[in-house]
Amino acid sequence: MANDASTVFDLVILGGGSGGYAAALRGAQLGLDVALIEKDKLGGTCLHRGCIPTKALLHAGELADQAREGAEFGVKTTLEGIDMAGVHKYKDGVVSGLYKGLQGLVASRKITYVTGEGRLSSATSVDVDGQRYEGRHILLATGSVPKSLPGLEIDGDRVISSDHALVLDRVPKSAVVLGGGVIGVEFASAWKSFGTDVTIVEALPHLVPAEDEGSSKLLERAFRKRGINFSLGSRFSGVEYTDNGVKVSLENGKTFEAELLLVAVGRGPVSQGLGYEEAGVAMDRGFVLVDEYMQTNVPTISAVGDLVPTLQLAHVGFAEGMLVAERLAGQKTVPIDYDGVPRVTYCHPEVASVGITEAKAKELYGSDKVVTLKYNLAGNGRSKILKTAGEIKLVQVRDGAVVGVHMVGDRMGEQVGEAQLIYNWEALPAEVAQLVHAHPTQNEALGEAHLALAGKPLHSHD
Ligand SMILES: Cc1cc2nc3c(=O)[nH]c(=O)nc-3n(C[C@H](O)[C@H](O)[C@H](O)COP(=O)(O)OP(=O)(O)OC[C@H]3O[C@@H](n4cnc5c(N)ncnc54)[C@H](O)[C@@H]3O)c2cc1C
Repeated sequence: MANDASTVFDLVILGGGSGGYAAALRGAQLGLDVALIEKDKLGGTCLHRGCIPTKALLHAGELADQAREGAEFGVKTTLEGIDMAGVHKYKDGVVSGLYKGLQGLVASRKITYVTGEGRLSSATSVDVDGQRYEGRHILLATGSVPKSLPGLEIDGDRVISSDHALVLDRVPKSAVVLGGGVIGVEFASAWKSFGTDVTIVEALPHLVPAEDEGSSKLLERAFRKRGINFSLGSRFSGVEYTDNGVKVSLENGKTFEAELLLVAVGRGPVSQGLGYEEAGVAMDRGFVLVDEYMQTNVPTISAVGDLVPTLQLAHVGFAEGMLVAERLAGQKTVPIDYDGVPRVTYCHPEVASVGITEAKAKELYGSDKVVTLKYNLAGNGRSKILKTAGEIKLVQVRDGAVVGVHMVGDRMGEQVGEAQLIYNWEALPAEVAQLVHAHPTQNEALGEAHLALAGKPLHSHD
């Protein structure tokens, strides 16, 4: 469709990241006339600066670890070194292949794709470079960018964000990672695999603090074993430049010197100066507020993805974007159960979960109504073959459904698919126990955990 002044689109989308492009693809599929406005690259953070490139780095790191550890499997390997240019070539190849595919997909759905910086000019229009795009509905999907702390300047050289870390041309000799959340531990893990001496600084008492405490403790144990250092429970107080890098100080008086500091303290919404306030959109600390159908207080405006205060995950953006498109196309939609969204941290070992933590379950149902079961991966043949340690923890409401699945171990992210069916279909342990799981797989560990919870443990003790 041409962007002449008389065109009124069904949906004008500002931002072509996971949330925005998912809404565009689904909307077009349902027959809506869609305009998608993106100032940088289609695919946004996830494809270019997030999920995909980090997982490529982590995979290269896994290969480095395997090369070092070949002798443990009777295979004669040594790690000669990391060729960072080669790692980037591999990573960029993955990204560019997916980018091309996505561009083709958007073109094939007859979406009007607009390159340029957009600004909301009214409740039903977005301006880009002097051109107005009118829509019966507007979707705000401008995403997020790395945050810092007050007084901590990210200079892109010695004090860097994840954006810089992804294009670093060398393996740093040493690094302090500020923030022990998902992004921080993933970089710490990849760098350690490449040979960096890493220290993570986390103000809260545990790494990956949003996870079940049991998972955090298992990850901490595994990181300790890998020689990844971390300091928990004390806040950052300052950083100064040294001759060779940085010196990071904490409120408890500890200091750490390293070649660089990666700031991974979270991501803030991109909403300043984009006309949102002027259009009357309700916001809180930069996040756009929405109801459970992703609608803002302005009836013609919706918002999705990292811009709204829900889980900052690409698949959450996809789901929210699709929900908006379906609602606008007149389909029946149901709100997203955010507890039912799978979460994976792709460090070595991986942390994967769905549902609620043991602590949250106790808060909701009362301590006496919550049952937990831990299945140690030491009893799982496939995990033993891979030489990975870890655990699956189930949280059940007594005599009821499984409300939380928490897993730690290499490749356990691949098991979260079944775990999410168990949670979202409110499965009883006995129902899962009835399903036959393939042997020897890591997936079998989920089956075994449910056998045990149903009172008939096979490869675990009563
Ligand atoms: C290092 C890292 C690793 C991650 N790993 C994972 C992972 O493994 N799994 C996972 O699920 N999630 C992961 N995430 C999170 C995931 O990337 C985000 O949740 C997701 O990208 C959010 O999508 P979005 O569409 O809301 O925003 P974004 O992807 O940020 O897209 C917003 C888009 O809007 C554009 N834009 C902004 N302002 C304007 C404007 N004025 N005009 C035009 N365009 C504009 C931007 O250029 C951008 O392309 C990771 C994030 C990071 C940083």
